[in-house]
Amino acid sequence: MHTSSTAAKFEPRKQPSGLLDSLLEAAGDIVLRVTLGGQVRAASRRALSLTGVEIDGRPVVSLVHDVDQPALRNALVSTGANGGANVVEARFRCGERDIWFELRIGLLASGDDAPLLIIGRDMSAQHATEERLRHMATHDALTELPNRVLLSDRIRMVIANARRSGQGFAVATIGLDGFKKVNDGLGHAIGDAVLRMAAGRLRRTLRDSDTLARVGGDEFVAVLPGSSNEPQIKLVTGRLMAALQSPFEIDGHTIYLAGSIGVATYPEHAEDEVRLVTLADTAMSRAKETGKARAVTYSPRDQGPPEHDISLEAAMFNAVREGEFQLYYQPIVDARNRTIEGFETLMRWKHPTLGMVPPVRFIPIAETNGLINLLGAWALKAACMQIRQFEEVAGRELYISVNISPRQFRSDKFLTVLDDALALSGTPGSKLVLEITEGTLMVDPVHAESVLAKMAERGARIAIDDFGTGYSSLAYLKRFPISVLKVDRAFVKDLPGAEKDAAICNAVLDLAKHLDLSVVAEGVETEAQLAWLDKLGCHYVQGYLTGKPMPAHVAVAALTENLYTELLPHDLPAGKP
Ligand code: C2E
Ligand code: MG
Ligand code: MG
Repeated sequence: MHTSSTAAKFEPRKQPSGLLDSLLEAAGDIVLRVTLGGQVRAASRRALSLTGVEIDGRPVVSLVHDVDQPALRNALVSTGANGGANVVEARFRCGERDIWFELRIGLLASGDDAPLLIIGRDMSAQHATEERLRHMATHDALTELPNRVLLSDRIRMVIANARRSGQGFAVATIGLDGFKKVNDGLGHAIGDAVLRMAAGRLRRTLRDSDTLARVGGDEFVAVLPGSSNEPQIKLVTGRLMAALQSPFEIDGHTIYLAGSIGVATYPEHAEDEVRLVTLADTAMSRAKETGKARAVTYSPRDQGPPEHDISLEAAMFNAVREGEFQLYYQPIVDARNRTIEGFETLMRWKHPTLGMVPPVRFIPIAETNGLINLLGAWALKAACMQIRQFEEVAGRELYISVNISPRQFRSDKFLTVLDDALALSGTPGSKLVLEITEGTLMVDPVHAESVLAKMAERGARIAIDDFGTGYSSLAYLKRFPISVLKVDRAFVKDLPGAEKDAAICNAVLDLAKHLDLSVVAEGVETEAQLAWLDKLGCHYVQGYLTGKPMPAHVAVAALTENLYTELLPHDLPAGKP
């Protein structure tokens, strides 16, 4: 057989031998002889063992991955026709896996029935390195999730698809609440473990078609194709939050975290990738500002009320069953002799993973879904029972102040609930102060008038809570049987320096004197505030200075030991487990 220089020593045969063959075999290369029509006529041992199939007579293109077949076919045709050498890269099908080969194709002397010579060099190691580099450039090393680079590619791709299909999608930014404390308090190794675990949990919540990226220390972004309406978004964000809420057990530490989520949708909020992520971020900041552990959808009216929090709502029903609600008691003190006159009951929700959820977060939800009727009735009953123990240990008369929400006040069952609480506890109505806001009275003044009259019949006193913040007209003070004005903390906090606030407090006290109402100043935090108020004739104060809200047993201790101010335990900070 006559062949050109390179191929001269290459004897095509099914079991090749000879020096060059041996060298080629040793180098891990594969050698094939192929007809001009592309059929394999002979193959080196390695080619045979790699492909693991009978390759004699088969089209050589059938040995490579479908995707690589056209390039190989073109190269064979081109070399066959023009004689020039061609190089292509192709994945050889080697059993279960594909191996990258660089295939050099040359033409042997004419007259040979298999004049095409293919020498393939195994490129898998190089490809693995390139793949690794590509992965490193596009993924976060700690969690193996896509990074910002890949995220932005993916969002652009999803935008392109959404344009074609007309189907919207959502981008959700997820921040871990409480992560900084973990990192600072327990060290970076544990912090990293938490992040890896959180990433895994979030990823498992999502579908394969969703993208989850890590874009910062404790920040993730999820791209959710096809999820663009409220119910879909609520479902996904609810699941994401739930995934973060179960405790993280790491190295003997039980760590509680939560997630704040911000959502922006395409095309409603934005149509480009950068803006979508920015708006989702804005919404997440709002979720954090308005109490954390919640999902907020971006809204252009940034000042608007926080969106309804569905995951918290679901947890509330559970909390009622599990008895996670408690009452705390904050002393109301006579500034002249620092004696406790009564207590205001303030509801607390001790969530097993979120820690103390403040009432500003759960009362509005309970108000919306009606759960407030149940919670309010329980609070009223518990407070009426509690006051008896307080009086017993104090050995004197005290009163108990209970907040009544607008919905509770409007409910037809309210008076029955009140009667039950008084009857069950045996507490006379006169021990009770019911705190309502101006807004509650003004929704339906005619109805309010009759309910208030019935409350007064039972001996209960009515206090206007947060006085001065709700309503501009004061005429209602004459019309309704009101006994107490609780001056809102807003007017107290900058005393005694703030002139306007001082003027308002003065006016309220003057008004109260003329209408024969008593006044309680809320939110008194400093001795200077207390002294100023006392001097002006506002003797009843409630605030951190004279006692933070506290559980009943601590209130009992406060009554017996006569402990005030700094000795009293602090109200548990919100959000701490
Ligand atoms: P509120 O009735 O005006 O209660 C006073 C709030 O001021 C309480 O907040 C109390 O912890 C806080 N506070 C008291 N002294 C100070 C102080 O010196 N400095 C500062 N910065 N704050 C002070 P909390 O307990 O978070 O309750 C918030 C609101 O939630 C209450 O405002 C009330 O409107 C509502 N709420 C609480 N418990 C109940 C309840 O059982 N039923 C109903 N319907 N509403 C409740
Ligand atoms: Mg109150
Ligand atoms: Mg108040």
